[in-house]
Amino acid sequence: MQCLVFLGPPGVGKGTQAKIYAESQGLAHISTGDMLRNAVKSGSELGARVSKIIDAGQLVPDELMIELIDARIGEADCSSGYILDGFPRTIPQAQALANLIAKHGATIRAAVLFDLADHEIMARLTNRREQENRADDNEEVQRRRLEVYRTQTAPLIDYYQQENLLLRIPADGEISQVQELLTRELNS
Ligand code: AMP
Repeated sequence: MQCLVFLGPPGVGKGTQAKIYAESQGLAHISTGDMLRNAVKSGSELGARVSKIIDAGQLVPDELMIELIDARIGEADCSSGYILDGFPRTIPQAQALANLIAKHGATIRAAVLFDLADHEIMARLTNRREQENRADDNEEVQRRRLEVYRTQTAPLIDYYQQENLLLRIPADGEISQVQELLTRELNS
C-alpha cells in the first residue's frame, strides 16, 4: 500500500491537485486542514483546542497531529492508498510519519513539492481571500502562514530530498496542466 505526501506553500493549489488526483486513482484524500476545520465546525473538544491556533495561522502541536493521522490512516478507505495533504508540516511530524507508515504496512512513494515563485504565492492568496472568505485567510494571517511554512515546513524539502523521495512539480500553470504533469510524473 502506498502513501503520497503533498507539500507546498499556502495558496499553491495542492489541495485542489490532491483532490483531483485522489479521485482519479481511487486513493483516499487526507487533508489535515479540512479535518481540523471540520472539528471546529462540529464543536468537538478537538475543535475547541485548535480553533485559535488555526485562526492565528500557527501550527497545531505535533503530538496532536500525529495522533490524528495515526487514527485516520488506519481507516478502511485508506486500504488502497492515500494522499496526505498538509501533513507532515514539521520535521518531527515527518519522522513520526515514517514510523506510522511502517506500522500500518505502507511505504511513502513520493513527497510531491508544488513549486511556485513568491510573487505568485502572494497573488494566489489574495485571490483566495477574496473568493473563499476563510477566517484564517486575512492578510496578516496569510503572511504568518507563509512565514510558518518557510521556517517549519520548508526544511522537509531537504529531508525528503535526502530520502530520495522528492518530486518537484512546477505549479504555475492551469489546474489541468499541473494535474497532467503530476499524473505523468507519478505514473512514469
Ligand atoms: P491547511 O488547510 O492545510 O492550510 O491547514 C489549515 C491550518 O490547519 C494550518 O494553518 C494549521 O493551523 C492547521 N494544520 C493543518 N495541518 C497541520 C499539520 N500537519 N500540523 C500542524 N497544524 C496543521
